[in-house]
Amino acid sequence: MSNLDSFLSDDACPKNVIMTKATVALSPSRLPGLDLALNPYSGCAHRCTYCYAPYIMRRPVDDWGCTISARMNLPVLLDKELPRKKGMIGLGTVTDPYQPAEGALRLTRHCLEIMAKHHARTSVLTKSSLVARDADLLSRLDGSEVGITMTTVRDDRAAIFEPCASPPSKRLEAMKALHEAGVNVYAFLGPIIPTVADRGLVDLIGSICDAGASMIMVDRLNLRPGMMARMLARMEEVDPSSIAELGASIEDDAYYGSITERIKALCREQGMPYRDAF
Ligand code: SF4
Repeated sequence: MSNLDSFLSDDACPKNVIMTKATVALSPSRLPGLDLALNPYSGCAHRCTYCYAPYIMRRPVDDWGCTISARMNLPVLLDKELPRKKGMIGLGTVTDPYQPAEGALRLTRHCLEIMAKHHARTSVLTKSSLVARDADLLSRLDGSEVGITMTTVRDDRAAIFEPCASPPSKRLEAMKALHEAGVNVYAFLGPIIPTVADRGLVDLIGSICDAGASMIMVDRLNLRPGMMARMLARMEEVDPSSIAELGASIEDDAYYGSITERIKALCREQGMPYRDAF
């Protein structure tokens, strides 16, 4: 088994899921384009090395990927709150709403059912191909959108820093399935990671266009304390040959400016709308 295979094994993914109860379902959101936030889960089993959610939630970084809380009463609360709260609901603004546990728990799906009942609008962002399961509901939610994160087109490069998320090949399949079901789906290219985003960039943009995305949104890597050291350590373990290149570019504004211009040019060639995330 290679180093990379070890990151992809089931044992790398935590199975600790705690059932909890929330007191409120919808909270105000200050993110662009969103009025409200809904997070069925806290903690994230996708375990991205660059995740900054634990910094926002003031949780230990190591704990964030190990213990997942499922707010099981959220659909009931949502049903009570939606008649008096209106606007675009960001589903998964802090934690990916399609955790591995969602396959069995169907908590996010129950929330979507309640949203459909109240004719609500939602904006989902995920790295999981499980989102395609809910194409039937998402296509009924007029004015809604689904963003699928794509940091690279290559499954092996994605597995370095997103060890337990769906591989890009599966995300592209989900994107296509959602598009074919009539869901407005876009690609979130973020964060841009040196030695990851730039491997197969032309294929990445082409694959996203082929999958039926309506837009490409781009975000650069925003480092938080300790993050760079963790990323370099992970790279050293998985692909030592890339560590010098990663170290040289990870804080280099010129690198991000250059790759962003390349992405913009590729989008122009394909007639694909481009947007900066923030
Ligand atoms: S999918 Fe999002 S919330 Fe989950 S670990 Fe990755 S960056 Fe963090």
